[in-house]
Amino acid sequence: MIICKSQREIEFLLKAGTIAAQAQEKMAEIIAPGITTAEIDRLAEEFITRNGARPAFKGYRGFPASVCTSVNDEVVHGIPGNRILKEGDIISLDVGTIIDGFYGDCARTVPVGNISKEAQRLIEVTMQSLKEGIARAREGGRLTDISHAIQSYVEENGYSVVRDYVGHGIGRSMHEAPQIPNFGPPNRGPRLKKGMTLAIEPMVNCGTYKVKTLEDGWTVVTKDGKLSAHFEDSIVIDGDTAQILTEP
Ligand code: MG
Repeated sequence: MIICKSQREIEFLLKAGTIAAQAQEKMAEIIAPGITTAEIDRLAEEFITRNGARPAFKGYRGFPASVCTSVNDEVVHGIPGNRILKEGDIISLDVGTIIDGFYGDCARTVPVGNISKEAQRLIEVTMQSLKEGIARAREGGRLTDISHAIQSYVEENGYSVVRDYVGHGIGRSMHEAPQIPNFGPPNRGPRLKKGMTLAIEPMVNCGTYKVKTLEDGWTVVTKDGKLSAHFEDSIVIDGDTAQILTEP
């Protein structure tokens, strides 16, 4: 069942989402060659707790950190550690927060120093594909209008969308119904209603959409070793448009 939120509940989700988005800004400020992914994680966790929230990913199904840090061919769920970022890398940062019982969730892919034109284009296409999806998140539309808009935009630009991981509803749980695929035909699935809160999150690969999980049980990488990017915002359907809940 998809839970439509009241105005009061949306305010709590906005609070959680804002802290998550601000944590993203803080992380982006320190991303540079030479920094470790553990340092990025520590900064985000400090920022989140200082603002009265808790890092929602920490301990989630046993995940050991506050941020997922996924570098280059890593798609999602990379574990922060002593990996040192180097010039030309790209890093996807996914962060969740919980405050007053409500969740925020957002992801960004960030360049490390100067990156290749291909990497830059991948980041831009992925970011824009999220915007294309959000533009279809409106009352009276249907869920897979979002999915189809994302896939179409990505494939027109020569990239692929990951199938094995999808977006989700968000609220008093980090993952609520519905699941939101980033692919598929339009005009299917539930009709969208005011007050539905969704975390839309395209994962876009330069090569094949196929992925595999490393032996650590978490890190998802592209099967062909090519680059991947990830953008995510939590939104609420507000009539003809969607309001983004994860802006700083
Ligand atoms: Mg998410």
